[in-house]
Amino acid sequence: MPLSEFALIQRYFSALGAGDHIDLSVGDDCAVLRLAGGERLATSVDTLVSGVHFPADSFPEDIGYRAVATAASDLAAMGARPLGMTCALTLPDAEELWLHAFSQGLAQAAAELELPLVGGDTTRGPLTVTVQVLGSLPAGAALVRGGAQVGDRLYVSGTLGDAAAGLAILNGEWCPEPEYGEYLVRRFHRPSARIRLGQRLLGSATAAIDVSDGLLADVAHLASASGVRVCVDHLALPVSEALQLACSDAQQRLRWALTGGDDYELCFTFPSDQAPAQGTLIGRVEAGEGIYCDADLQGAEGYQHF
Ligand code: ADP
Ligand code: MG
Repeated sequence: MPLSEFALIQRYFSALGAGDHIDLSVGDDCAVLRLAGGERLATSVDTLVSGVHFPADSFPEDIGYRAVATAASDLAAMGARPLGMTCALTLPDAEELWLHAFSQGLAQAAAELELPLVGGDTTRGPLTVTVQVLGSLPAGAALVRGGAQVGDRLYVSGTLGDAAAGLAILNGEWCPEPEYGEYLVRRFHRPSARIRLGQRLLGSATAAIDVSDGLLADVAHLASASGVRVCVDHLALPVSEALQLACSDAQQRLRWALTGGDDYELCFTFPSDQAPAQGTLIGRVEAGEGIYCDADLQGAEGYQHF
């Protein structure tokens, strides 16, 4: 049987990341490395392959924007302050019109997320964009996947399922009214990395993860890292007005909200006697393991590459 993405990482790479100055290694949204003076470096890298992570006919501005936003989302999930990024670009050919537009998208996201581009690499091959992000964390504080406590409540920022619905439109699988469709497609191409929310949650949320593979899949990572069971209330999931108006099939909306990836919202746990400044209450943390969701969905897992 082929190895799953996470089993593969665990078996071949997770043991290579130990060191005296390493606070967090393989397994969380970012690695955290201790620097002199107590400050810590949070870093993460993400690759987008044309035809796999975005439709091959996407506008280059959107590809550039999305590459930065999806990578920066891991800084948000750690509560890190953005410092900078590098970009490794593999291109089939050096087309100036394409490069100009791509760099505009990159620049827009870099400005919005305060991530100056400080280096990278350029090679020839099938279109692939890799962005590494670097951020700063204070001594002793980080939002990690493993901190959820029994009794905590589970929250999520923004709305869920928009990007998956947008991708269904881009793939020609669904054709809603254009006025809603445009919003959903934009949520796929232009995700919001919740950098400010992450920093606000630092020191108050007990655990956090960004929703890249789908809510259930990512909450399962949080539950497993924390050694708890997480219950998700499907009736509480925040769904955008656009998605509700565009899609009258409640089961389909729920499937996108629970299992669709690419939303890049933050999912986090909070002590039950406190309330976060932002976010929708969607569940609770119990003793045990795994996730429980009261929705009736079959085969509900998130996206895995292998
Ligand atoms: P995310 O969705 O937050 O980007 P991933 O699901 O891609 O995280 O990866 C899960 C964890 O495994 C992360 O901590 C990541 O750094 C690590 N990881 C993924 N691929 C590799 C690899 N080839 N070598 C080392 N670590 C890896
Ligand atoms: Mg992540």
